[in-house]
Amino acid sequence: MGFFGWSTCQVFLENVKVPKEQLLGERNKGLKIALNTLNTGRIKLGASCIGVGKKALNHAVSYAKQREQFGKSISDFGAIQDKIARMEAYIFANESAVFRLGNDIDLLRATKEKQGESFSEAKINSLKEFSIESAIVKVYGSEIQDYIVDQAVQIYGGMGFSAESPVEHLYRAIRISRIYEGTNEINRLVIIKEFVKKGMKGELEIFSLFSEILEDLSTPSAAFSEDVIQQYEQFVNNLKSLTILISGVCLQEFMTQLENEQEVSMCISDLLISLYVMESTLLRVKKLQRIDLLDETYHFSLLKIIGFDVFSKVTTTVNELIGAFNSKKEAKAIVAAKSKYLKIPHSNVKEERRNIAKYVLAKESN
Ligand SMILES: Cc1cc2nc3c(=O)[nH]c(=O)nc-3n(C[C@H](O)[C@H](O)[C@H](O)COP(=O)(O)OP(=O)(O)OC[C@H]3O[C@@H](n4cnc5c(N)ncnc54)[C@H](O)[C@@H]3O)c2cc1C
Repeated sequence: MGFFGWSTCQVFLENVKVPKEQLLGERNKGLKIALNTLNTGRIKLGASCIGVGKKALNHAVSYAKQREQFGKSISDFGAIQDKIARMEAYIFANESAVFRLGNDIDLLRATKEKQGESFSEAKINSLKEFSIESAIVKVYGSEIQDYIVDQAVQIYGGMGFSAESPVEHLYRAIRISRIYEGTNEINRLVIIKEFVKKGMKGELEIFSLFSEILEDLSTPSAAFSEDVIQQYEQFVNNLKSLTILISGVCLQEFMTQLENEQEVSMCISDLLISLYVMESTLLRVKKLQRIDLLDETYHFSLLKIIGFDVFSKVTTTVNELIGAFNSKKEAKAIVAAKSKYLKIPHSNVKEERRNIAKYVLAKESN
């Protein structure tokens, strides 16, 4: 379908004898290296989706500015501006998640090196610690990339379907991103498996927090503050409580059967993806504020657009889960958690998207 510059083929190795001086690492320890290679590949894939997204957006914006219909440029239409704004916001969110993850891995690697590990040991061990996040940026990046490139084709209209347009090639080339480096289904399974493993080992505070959140379900949640950053801090904290509560309830209900309940596993992974992306976007906006690089109109609009998107996705996921329970008690706990924690600060998201579209359309580079 794409990548015609590559020669993709299968390689079969049958009864191959490899001299020991050719070993790349310790004998029988190859899987660890192979799995870590996947972690690196997943981060790189998430990062490459930023570049593709920006390219698709640039093409779409420059085409939208020059294409006229009904006596005006199509970039003046609200329907087109809505797409442009979502594309910009998704790129920002994906970039925030990838930057955060890269920095976290670098910091951990530096700490491990200080503790005496060699550079490569420290690198492999740090990557392993972030296998959940690596899978998250792979899944999120490849899925928003699909949306962005698809909408770029849409903005080109009939021209987008033509091989003469630059977006037709992108549309074909990026389809592989949801398949390689582990399909997105497999990556979602990695997310939940590692999450449960870390919870069991006590590396993630899921179970102690679960009991606290469950006990506290009947108390009402605090009203949103007036300050935008504080509002989204509350939103993220609420999402965390909701995710922990739901994961705990699902583990209780399905226990060892969770492997046979892939639909439920996928839903929990989706909650974790939304949470990580939302928190990364917020952390980036907070950092920009700290270092005096915050453009309130632009960055707060992005925050609100991503917040609304995350809220909509989480609502669907939670509704899906409520229906998946045979036991009424567990479903009731999720309904209570939904009504307490699933709240979004008020915003006129249509106007926020118009703000962002205006900003993108005013850039000279398009
Ligand atoms: C252009 C290209 C380049 C590639 N480059 C490389 C490379 O450099 N190195 C390399 O090693 N590989 C490479 N691959 C292979 C690629 O990683 C695999 O195609 C990919 O991992 C999916 O495996 P599969 O094709 O066997 O699909 P399958 O495993 O047959 O999957 C088919 C479908 O079933 C789903 N599925 C499978 N197992 C499960 C499960 N347990 N639970 C739920 N759903 C499941 C999948 O998600 C998918 O939707 C490349 C492939 C392509 C097309």
